[in-house]
Amino acid sequence: MISKLEGKRVLITAAGQGIGRASVLAFAAAGAIVHATDINQGLLDALPKQDNIKPRKLDVLNGDEVTRVVGEIGQVDVLFNCAGFVHGGTILEMPDADLEFALDLNVRAMIRTIKAVLPGMIERKDGAIINMSSVASSVKGVGNRFAYGVTKAAVLGLTKSVAADFITQGIRCNAICPGTVESPSLEQRMRAGGDYEATRAAFIARQPMGRLGMPEEIADLAVYLAGATYTTGQAYNIDGGWTV
Ligand code: NAD
Repeated sequence: MISKLEGKRVLITAAGQGIGRASVLAFAAAGAIVHATDINQGLLDALPKQDNIKPRKLDVLNGDEVTRVVGEIGQVDVLFNCAGFVHGGTILEMPDADLEFALDLNVRAMIRTIKAVLPGMIERKDGAIINMSSVASSVKGVGNRFAYGVTKAAVLGLTKSVAADFITQGIRCNAICPGTVESPSLEQRMRAGGDYEATRAAFIARQPMGRLGMPEEIADLAVYLAGATYTTGQAYNIDGGWTV
C-alpha cells in the first residue's frame, strides 16, 4: 500500500531531539519530505543524512525567521508544532518572565507558524496541522506546572479555533496530549530535583501502565493524525493511562 504521506511536505519544529526528532524519523519512514527545524544547529547536524530529511535552523520565537523559512520551503502540507518548554512552579512561585516565555514559545510560536503556512494550505484546499499540547492542560490539573498548564490549555483552544474556522477549506487541526515521555529535557528535569531515582519513580508512578512513554509512540500518533482525513479539532491523550 502506498503511504498517505508519500511525497507530502512536512514541517516539524523542535525537531532536534525528543518527540520532534522521533517524528522526523517516523514521517521520513512514511515517505514524507521532512523539513526538520530546530534552534539548535548541532542537534540538526546529528539527524540522519538522507534525501527526504531536510534540516534547517529555525527559532520559532522569531516571527521574521518563521515567515522567511516557510517562504523558502514553499509548500507545507503538514505542520507539526512540537516546540514547547516546561516551567515548574505554582501560580505563586512563577516569575512573570516565565509566563511570558511560556506564552511565547508554547502558544505564540504556534500561532506564528500556523499563520505562515495556512494561506498556502487554503489555496491547495489541503493541510494538516498538529499541535503539541499535554495532558497537563485543560485535560488535567497537574501540580507544580502553572505556566505550563495555562499555555498547553491555550494550545487546545487555538487548535479547536483553527479547526472550526477552516474546516470547509480542507484544513484539519488536531492536538496531541502526551503524559510523561522519555526525552532529554525530561532527563534534565529529573536530575534537577536532586534525587534522580526518586523523581523518576514518581514520574513513572503517575502513569498507570507503569512506565514512561517513548518519543516513538508519540511520533506514531503525529503520523496518524497527518493522514487521518476524518478528524479535526480533537485533543488526543496518549498518556499511559494517566487520564483513565
Ligand atoms: P525536548 O524538550 O527534550 O526538546 C525540545 C527541543 O526544542 C530541543 O531540540 C530544542 O533545541 C528545541 N527548541 C527550544 N527552543 C526552541 C525555539 N525557540 N525554536 C525552535 N526549537 C526550539 O523535547 P520533548 O520533551 O520531546 O518535548 C517536545 C514537546 O512535547 C514540547 O512541546 C513538550 O511540552 C511536549 N511534551 C513533552 C512531554 C514529555 O514528557 N517529554 C510530555 C507532554 C508534552
